[in-house]
Amino acid sequence: MSKVLVIGCGGVASVAIQKCCQVSDVFTELCLASRTKSKCDDLAAKLKGHTDTKITTAQVDADDVNQLIALIQKEKPDLVMNVALPYQDLTIMDACLACGVNYMDTANYEPENTDDPQWRAIYEKRCKEAGFSAYFDYSWQWAYRKKFEDAGLMALLGCGFDPGVTQAYCAYAKKHEFDHIDTIDILDCNGGDHGYAFATNFNPEVNLREVSAPGSYWEDGHWIEIPAMSIKREYHFDQVGEKDMYLLHHEEIESLAQTIPEAKRIRFFMTFGQSYLDHMRCLEDVGMLSTTPVEFEGHQIVPIKFLKALLPDPASLGPRTKGKTNIGCIFTGTKDGKDKTWYIYNVCDHQECYHEVGSQGVSYTTGVPAMCGALMMLTGKWQKPGVYTVDELDPDPFLDALDKYGLPRSIDENPVLVP
Ligand code: NDP
Repeated sequence: MSKVLVIGCGGVASVAIQKCCQVSDVFTELCLASRTKSKCDDLAAKLKGHTDTKITTAQVDADDVNQLIALIQKEKPDLVMNVALPYQDLTIMDACLACGVNYMDTANYEPENTDDPQWRAIYEKRCKEAGFSAYFDYSWQWAYRKKFEDAGLMALLGCGFDPGVTQAYCAYAKKHEFDHIDTIDILDCNGGDHGYAFATNFNPEVNLREVSAPGSYWEDGHWIEIPAMSIKREYHFDQVGEKDMYLLHHEEIESLAQTIPEAKRIRFFMTFGQSYLDHMRCLEDVGMLSTTPVEFEGHQIVPIKFLKALLPDPASLGPRTKGKTNIGCIFTGTKDGKDKTWYIYNVCDHQECYHEVGSQGVSYTTGVPAMCGALMMLTGKWQKPGVYTVDELDPDPFLDALDKYGLPRSIDENPVLVP
């Protein structure tokens, strides 16, 4: 018997909300709140008569802490699920603290305006000290650990697929499969085809920032940074086939380096087609990925926001996207004194997702873990004061829930390793 306030009503939120409505005995009430209330109203209308969960809707600008506080005080939820954008992580965490409510999200905080001098000074110091230059990192949200602990509240960070499920796979490998983990390779393959020359599978701003940033990986206790897309490998993915994949910086490496400190190397690879990369390079070269406003015919325009307006809405890709995703982790290490390799992954079919919830697989593989993370918190399986990433929590009930609600795991005891 719980009430959840969901903030954001885009591609990921739509899946998370529909999955919550499949578990109405836990998610008895949902309040859907977003910047554009009509999207919440449309989804509530679609779900009416198909779920026992009671749904209400509200308008909120989640950049404004006072608006959030007023909404939380009015709705009195047990949990706030942030499936808006990473830009709103800190304002929503502040509002949760002010109102004494638990919090969760699916992505690291990053600022909307990376030219803000105050943010930039901290960022540049962190780049030097930590050794990687991605705009997003955990430091901002880890700084809330004591505040949440003192308030007796829990904040769950990054509970999508990657970050999220991939960290649960690592926690599971450490708990059950290995005495010592030597290396971890996280592989994110999207074998889906939407038929457009160029489109992003989730929020274009967040996606293009991530992909155009320098890559980095963790080795022997420190970060190694490389130019964007400069390490390429080919890999044969189960049920997808042969794909090119590229080494990226990814947020879960930062937390895994702490929870599995014995790991000598942790890398993250994502697959991209040539058309995507060619378009991205070209857009970057002409300045279209910039977040710095430019003056155009008397208007201030942020190039990447203008580009977002031109690109297909990720939420509209559902009916067109065919093929499968395959995301998982390959481990090397030892068990009972013997060398061991082990691969755990999930395969998800875009069209099956579309037929179930009207979305493509990338929204599905993020929205289902968000619902399962909320389920863990609301049923007390994950409930301790402080700020946590998924790798710090018991993976067993979470992976069982994923198996049950649409993202079952597959295991390969003898995987081909990534060179
Ligand atoms: P979308 O752009 O589709 O949706 C974002 C939603 O947030 C929209 O409804 C938008 O409202 C709303 N929003 C934006 N700004 C505000 C604001 N100031 N106040 C209130 N609402 C706001 O994004 P996605 O659904 O693709 O992504 C959601 C989150 O999931 C992102 O943080 C993304 O990084 C994360 N993600 C995580 C993954 C993982 O595996 N961990 C994978 C993919 C995504 P409006 O309709 O008005 O624009």
